[in-house]
This record gives sequence, C-alpha cells and structure tokens, in this order.
Amino acid sequence: MFGSLFKNFRTPLVLIVTLVMFIYGSIAGNNYQDTLSSYKENVTGLTMMENDVDTALPQTAVYDIIYDHLTGSLPEGKTVKKAIVIGYDGCRLDTFTLFDDAHESAINTLLDDGGEAYVAYCGGANYHTLNTQFTSTAPGWCTMLTGEWATVHGVINNGIPKSNKHLTLLTTGVQDGVIGSSAFYVSWDGHFVDSDGTYINELQYVKDNGLNVTFLDAGDDDGTRANVLADLAKEDCSDFIFSIFEYTDHTGHDTGFSINNPDYVQAFYDAEQTGCEIISAIKSRPTYETEDWLILITSDHGGYNTGHGMCTMQERMIFIVTNKAPVLPDGGFGSMC
Ligand SMILES: [Zn+2]
Repeated sequence: MFGSLFKNFRTPLVLIVTLVMFIYGSIAGNNYQDTLSSYKENVTGLTMMENDVDTALPQTAVYDIIYDHLTGSLPEGKTVKKAIVIGYDGCRLDTFTLFDDAHESAINTLLDDGGEAYVAYCGGANYHTLNTQFTSTAPGWCTMLTGEWATVHGVINNGIPKSNKHLTLLTTGVQDGVIGSSAFYVSWDGHFVDSDGTYINELQYVKDNGLNVTFLDAGDDDGTRANVLADLAKEDCSDFIFSIFEYTDHTGHDTGFSINNPDYVQAFYDAEQTGCEIISAIKSRPTYETEDWLILITSDHGGYNTGHGMCTMQERMIFIVTNKAPVLPDGGFGSMC
C-alpha cells in the first residue's frame, strides 16, 4: 500500500525535495568554492565541445547514438558492428578542464580518432531548474539504456525495479537480432544484485528467454575492468558492452565532487587510465580492422558537495564523447537553462 501511495506522489515529491535542497544549498554554501559562476565559466571555456550548456543534448541521446550505429550500414571493409559504453559514474562536465600532458586521456584519444564531444543533461524532461527524475545513478544509466526518461521507464530514483515493459537495448538488441550478444559490467549492487535493483526483472527475463545477455557484478572497479578486458580478449567478444566505473562517484561521496578536490581529480585520471586500457584492448583485437566500433564515454550525473540527486547545474550537466561523429537524434539539442 505504501508503495502505491509513494508512486502516486513521487513526482511532486521530487519537485518539493529538489526545491528544498536548492534553497538549502544556496544558504549553506559549499566546499571547494564550487560556485555556479565559476562552474559556468569553466564549462563555457571547453573548446573541444560541439555545443554548450544552452544547447545540451538530453541524456536519452546516448541510446539513439548507439542504436543508430548498430542498425546503420557497414562501411566498406567492415563485417560486423560493435559498440561499447565506458561509463564514468558521477563524473562532472568540468573535469574536462583537467586534461594535461602528464595523464593519458581516453576522452582525448576518441577525439583524436575523429570523434566528437557534446554537453548533455540528466535529471529528466526539461523543466529548467526543476527536474522530473533524481540526478541519481539508476535513473541516469536507465535513461541511456532505454532511451526514455523516467516518466516512461519509471525508474525515478535508485531502488526501483524497472518493469519489463521497457527493456534495455542490451536485451532488445539481442532479442530483435540487431546484435548477437551483449554484456553489462558493473560493480554497484543497486543495478541487479540487490533485491530492489533496477534490472532484477530484466535479468530474470533474459534468463527465462535464454537470451545471450551477460549481467556481471564485479564488486569493484578493478573487477569491472578485468571483466571488460576478458570479454574483449575473446575472439567473439560481445557485440555491445555497457560498462560502468565508480572511481569519481565513490570519491565524490567520500570527499567531494569538485575539480578543486585533489582526490576527485585523481579519481578522474584513474577512470581515464582505465578508459585508455579498454580502448587499447579494442584496437589490439586481431579482427579490429574488420570491426565497426562505436566507443562512447559518458556519465550518469555530476555532483555537488558530497552528493547528487538534485537540480544544481553541477549535478545535471554531463557529457557524451564518441570516437566518430554521431548522428544526433531527431529534435537535436535541448534547451537546459
Ligand atoms: Zn551514479
């Protein structure tokens, strides 16, 4: 009974909680001098981006870009479509000010390979500062995997098992024959290990229908990296791999989501290092020359102080980087602010 009561009231509840937190944040101030003006100045100066905050892509674009790639025609000399998402959980857009010669960058590797970088936003349909889903982990990744906001898939926050009415591209891609296999590599139990995990119903659906979709929870980022690299080392690696790394999210919760926090900066470099290892493993595949790869790096949400979930720009702005110019979804850019 409480569940249905909560369900009926959850959208206004999000709006109220968001408003309260916004007022609280304004009064309480923040650590690391994470002001809106300095944040805006930093992200406005990102010359590698194809767009800006005012023309940010909706997070749903990730689904469209991957779907378009997998269903598009094969370029000459290529025999199979492959796609991978390297997810940096809780990575803020302004980490793009941190690139330097001392650190290997997976993001810049993709751009050097002819890719493009876009400003995007999470947190649901665009109601300016008020969002319709929490800027949290489950709604963020679920929005990319289904191509819908929580108003459709229902995962408005963590701890809400998604209905199988809205399956992810991992499952529909295999079921519809678009791809032969897919894999979801994570280390956060809230995805499908916990009893209220986002994908517990879909995991059962995959089992019941004997679909070639792998759900694997490693327990930590080292394990996730090992799982991805083991998959890529196989001759017949998964056609679509979706991997999520917690470096920046864990550090942000521990000591602060801020590019002025040395620990958070290091976590970003750690994520980039792992990203580079994965890209290198892809390019080292004996069959790489005949495979048409889409490599995409993105984030589920940003962060503010030691949390996320609300509607500050630091939490809502994310990024989408690809190794080739993507076909953008119909409607193109949103209008965030
Ligand atoms: Zn997250």
